[in-house]
Amino acid sequence: MKATAKSLRVLVVEDNVVNQRLATTLLSKLGYHPVVASSGPQALAILSKEVFDVILMDVQMPEMDGLEVTARIRSEERATRNHIPIIALTAHAMPGDRERFLAAGMDGYLSKPIKRELLQEVLSGIANPCHR
Ligand code: MN
Repeated sequence: MKATAKSLRVLVVEDNVVNQRLATTLLSKLGYHPVVASSGPQALAILSKEVFDVILMDVQMPEMDGLEVTARIRSEERATRNHIPIIALTAHAMPGDRERFLAAGMDGYLSKPIKRELLQEVLSGIANPCHR
């Protein structure tokens, strides 16, 4: 099945309510199906029950940060050989961040506040829908 914007299910992992709202509004307008997790543990719980095409992952979260959540997802994927694309969301991009995020198992990143055009560009680059 070919991925269309409307078939892409996106998990937004973000602890900030304003950022959650911005992300879900943009995603909905672009025709995607967003589901929000407010914390790393909540994201892992949702992922154990539902399948997504891509994850937008806030890096800075209390309790469990985005890098640790990503590490856990990658570790669980090892058994199944799946690889869900994970896009880091970061408010203050620092030199070396890109390398740090990629080393943590992420596939790309977006600066916050998320720009509609960049979001669309990143998501349209997601080639493999969950129906594979
Ligand atoms: Mn945060």
